[in-house]
Amino acid sequence: MPIEQTLSMIKPDGVKRGLIGEVIGRFEKAGLKIRAMKMLHLSLNQARAFYAVHKERPFFDSLTQFMSSGPIVALILEGDNAIQVNRDLMGATDYRKAAPGTIRADFAKEIEANIVHGSDAVETAQVEIAFFFNALERV
Ligand code: GDP
Repeated sequence: MPIEQTLSMIKPDGVKRGLIGEVIGRFEKAGLKIRAMKMLHLSLNQARAFYAVHKERPFFDSLTQFMSSGPIVALILEGDNAIQVNRDLMGATDYRKAAPGTIRADFAKEIEANIVHGSDAVETAQVEIAFFFNALERV
């Protein structure tokens, strides 16, 4: 299995609901190493830039308002097959379709406010990591 890095975010709903420790605990128990971490509050424009790939989708305005509604935690996770391992921990985008025991199945209450983000491919992971972290911030 390749050692990969992936970008994770604990979204504003996860931070507001006090789930930072719960989510990070799941990452660590799954063997993912935290290589960088920060809390920040995205502006609307920053959220729109991060989710630019979705700009034609009907939920783009709502999603970017939600993502800029409060602080988030951004992390670089590293490990064997880290991108898929993280996606498996998160569960499906729609919490109603997420496998039991996943973060979204256990905690999400809406398709939009679904607790976590995780990169979906090597190329997007590189872009998303660079969006949040400069070289000095990565260990
Ligand atoms: P992800 O990779 O599982 O996060 O899913 P996507 O990349 O497809 O979507 C990005 C984010 O947009 C999701 O995590 C949700 O927060 C939000 N989203 C996706 N689909 C919908 C939808 O149908 N309605 C709304 N309101 N938000 C959505």
